[in-house]
Amino acid sequence: MLWKDKRYHTLNYEMKKIFGEKTIKLSINGGFTCPNRDGTIGTKGCLFCSEKGSGEFAGNGQTSIKNQIKQQKDFLSKKWKTNSYIAYFQSYTNTYAPVEILKKKYYEALNCEGIKGLAIATRPDCINDETIKLLKEINKNYFLWVELGLQTIHHKTAEIIRRGYDLNVFEKTLNKLNNAGIKAVVHLIIGLPNETNEQILQSVNYISNKNIWGVKLHLMHVLKNTDLEEYYYNTNFKIFEKNEYVSLLCDCLEKLPPKIVIHRVTGDGKKSDLVTPRWSLDKLKVLSDIDKELKTRNSWQGKLVV
Ligand code: SF4
Repeated sequence: MLWKDKRYHTLNYEMKKIFGEKTIKLSINGGFTCPNRDGTIGTKGCLFCSEKGSGEFAGNGQTSIKNQIKQQKDFLSKKWKTNSYIAYFQSYTNTYAPVEILKKKYYEALNCEGIKGLAIATRPDCINDETIKLLKEINKNYFLWVELGLQTIHHKTAEIIRRGYDLNVFEKTLNKLNNAGIKAVVHLIIGLPNETNEQILQSVNYISNKNIWGVKLHLMHVLKNTDLEEYYYNTNFKIFEKNEYVSLLCDCLEKLPPKIVIHRVTGDGKKSDLVTPRWSLDKLKVLSDIDKELKTRNSWQGKLVV
């Protein structure tokens, strides 16, 4: 097997290979907002965005970054014995501030003990040349990746989910990150309203042909108190059954080049917040079903890459 016990290239595998030990992401709320919420692009945010800015498991933005890191380390130390971490700026848009503020927040995290690098989640329309310069500087001395929330390549779906930027903006920013030698991770959502399996695989094919380091494949799930919840009750758009999702997810993995690191293969709603699909709460079962399906197919990540 290419990736130890897995048929796809997991982040866990990659982190162990790079750092020689279990390396954990600590989810940080850097106290940012988002142009899709503060009125610059929109006020309601992406259709699926929660009040926590899609950072359900991140810390509290009122707490200092240093303290959030300490709290998360204390919490996770019960489960994992390691002192190797990536500070993950997860909530809202983590490059949406003047560069001096970004620098202060990023280095506050980097200066904490055990932090090997940063993961920064953002929108491609919120990375200017000054930010690229700062990221390039950080990238020289630390491990760094930047996550771009693309979700889909299809314009009509992008309008439904109120993403607020066009595909060419994504392309330009990805080029800038590539030129600066900064690793990019792209988010796709599997099962967006009205998308067919064929359209989903078109988005996967598109990113397969880009120079990206990693991908996050999110299961479309509906959280309480989001506009998506209302949209779901109004339109009753299709939510995947577990077996449908597992099969499609394996189709996606087969089309992704082996070198691309798979950061996520399912969705992660909190039990109390999740409307549907409730089967996703049993994450271990979903992961094991994906493993089983790949085994049954005698398949692996990249099998269908030509
Ligand atoms: S870009 Fe991110 S933080 Fe902003 S509205 Fe969309 S999901 Fe929420």
